[in-house]
Amino acid sequence: MARGLTIRHFSRQRIAPGPGVGASHPPWGAGRVRSGPLARGGVDGDRIYEMDYTYNNGGSLEGFFMHRDPPSSVKKILRKEVGFGCPVTDCGCPYLEWHHFDPAWHVRNHHEPKGMIALCREHHIQADHGAFTTEQLRHFKKCGRSSSKTIEGKFNWMRNRLLLAVGGNFYYETLGVFKFQGREIIWLERSTDGYLTVNINMLTTSGLPRARMINNQWYGTNLEDDIECPPSAKRIKVRYSNGDHFSLEFTEANSESDILKSFPEASVGRWDIPFPITLAAISYSVGGTNISFGSRGTTIEGLSIVGVFMKNCGWGIVVN
Ligand SMILES: [Zn+2]
Repeated sequence: MARGLTIRHFSRQRIAPGPGVGASHPPWGAGRVRSGPLARGGVDGDRIYEMDYTYNNGGSLEGFFMHRDPPSSVKKILRKEVGFGCPVTDCGCPYLEWHHFDPAWHVRNHHEPKGMIALCREHHIQADHGAFTTEQLRHFKKCGRSSSKTIEGKFNWMRNRLLLAVGGNFYYETLGVFKFQGREIIWLERSTDGYLTVNINMLTTSGLPRARMINNQWYGTNLEDDIECPPSAKRIKVRYSNGDHFSLEFTEANSESDILKSFPEASVGRWDIPFPITLAAISYSVGGTNISFGSRGTTIEGLSIVGVFMKNCGWGIVVN
């Protein structure tokens, strides 16, 4: 039974992530509460933790740690509010971070959307150093980015070899993944210097424009319900309110087991592919239809395909 004194600290401390961090192992030992801030300003990689400890008469400390990175629901509110691009005048960069300004994080740890704003990394650093007043940041939140310019961004990840994981199937040395009624929908192209680039067209029944990716460069339309792309620029998720969506993520696989972590049922051992290899995972769906390339398989017009490894094919799936 927790009785007696409750002490709350809001501060930051360097903490090794992993086992041992948590209620039963407070960083300074059980049964003692230090007054004042605890080792302020510690950063472990990108991990900065919020702590809130309760000291009980029983002599034990209960604590929990909150990552400085906000919950995904808060991030979605913040990026949507600014139209998925940095709202600083003439910026519009889609690779967003989350700035705490009212109050600042060091004043009080919180994830309250009204006191936070999505900014690109460059303008986040400037904001942390005082470049913008609270009033200016509030104005950016209210007015968002200028919608005269559509959002766009680029993936680097230039490779000579790619393993594509699309809708539960795998494509190696196979440039065409999906062609629908003569139109190329998901495919790779090889540049003159030998690098493979990803191309995606979105099918839709909405009659409205949709995002596309041409040779690793992607373009939004200002009609998106969500565009999620972290500053690492290794992943993008684009979603529309009618269910149209695609996502792409690049990762490095150093061995079979790296692939099995994401795709436990893949028969990697029989594929005869070289390691390390770059994996490009794509999911894709067309709202209001049964065309879906999900993590559990590909479904097209009643046909379900999963776990197929295609090597040296022209096109994987062609629907006429
Ligand atoms: Zn910016």
